[in-house]
Amino acid sequence: MAAGVLSSTGNGRARTWARIGIVVQFLALLRILAQYLWLEAHSAAAFTAASGHPWVVGALLTATLALATVLLYFGGRFRAAAAVAGLTVAVLLVYRFVVPGVASAAPVGPEAPRGAATADTTPASRSVALTFDDLPWADAEVPLDSVAERTRRMLAVLRAHGAPGVAFVIGRRVLADGDAGRRLDLLRAWRDAGVELGNHTWSHLSFQNTPLDRYEDDVLRGDAVPRLLMGEVGKTPHFFRPPFNQTGRTRVARDAFAAFLAERGYALAPFTVEDVDYAFDDLYRAAGGDTASQARIGRTYLAHFDTAMAFGERLSRETFGREIPQVLLLHADDLNALYLGRLLAHLEARGYRFVSLKTALADSAYATPDGYVGRYGISWLHRWRKGLGLPSRLREEPDPPAWVLQDYQALHRK
Ligand SMILES: [Zn+2]
Repeated sequence: MAAGVLSSTGNGRARTWARIGIVVQFLALLRILAQYLWLEAHSAAAFTAASGHPWVVGALLTATLALATVLLYFGGRFRAAAAVAGLTVAVLLVYRFVVPGVASAAPVGPEAPRGAATADTTPASRSVALTFDDLPWADAEVPLDSVAERTRRMLAVLRAHGAPGVAFVIGRRVLADGDAGRRLDLLRAWRDAGVELGNHTWSHLSFQNTPLDRYEDDVLRGDAVPRLLMGEVGKTPHFFRPPFNQTGRTRVARDAFAAFLAERGYALAPFTVEDVDYAFDDLYRAAGGDTASQARIGRTYLAHFDTAMAFGERLSRETFGREIPQVLLLHADDLNALYLGRLLAHLEARGYRFVSLKTALADSAYATPDGYVGRYGISWLHRWRKGLGLPSRLREEPDPPAWVLQDYQALHRK
């Protein structure tokens, strides 16, 4: 009531506005505090990421301006207090609508998990599409007889689990490394086990270091093998996966290449989870006949696989408020020939069923813009976060244990 009486004068109106401003600032600070506490309680990782975020600056700015408003108000300088309160509201609006990612620092959406956002949150139906890179075999020096035996082993596992997939062929490794006929037969075995053959270029070039026209030539040359083999069963190849998952060094190159692929009926195959299998595979093979150390590498690989899946699941929830169908990137290599059965059993234990890549990509999440341009072959979950203006989680991507990385680097320094 006092405000009504005082509002008859200009100073009284300013006083009323200053009071309203103080209440608004107080509520805004409470809201920021609540979001912080919510993050801390529900996702330690999201809380850590938010700590380095510009919204912390926004919170500190709001608190400072609120303090200034209160001091001015009690000093009787109502106009100045109201002005500072107005400024605070402007700052809050800028942080809410202009600074990207601030509004979405917390997991969003009605399906956002209420429990701790850990790997143990198992939705009713998880799905995953399997993809295999570097066909016919990632380890180029393995004799063909061994490759044939290991391929049979992997395909028996896929059949036993009813898992479809896409296998990405390096053309040169089929047609130019000798025994082309046998290599084509190996690929036919994949195809006949329900695995679609895709294009992984002719010579596994880095898009980062190759001019667009030369890179496109390599893709066209790489098209021959999958087109021949899929054509034998009345189909065409649909998917292209870029070596090293490099999608172009500039936005212009990336977009031009996307148009090139689309014109030729190809879709770029993204992935959401990879388990650094190539590093474990190198270590495993370098360990030779040392069964104790090979067993240790295998155990560590399985543990890291679970960690990588859990991270993909969490990132999916934090980005889309739900778990999207995952796309797993594996290599056709010695280690996976031995461990694929266990990987798939782990996936089933996590509640996954196996779907085709086409089915996975039909999910609306896969239409999210890819906001990433750069040399790293990062998961599409990171690229989409960038496209959506969400804070980066790249630095939280779990690495294998330090000894694995060290041994891997030592191996490649030789
Ligand atoms: Zn590759």
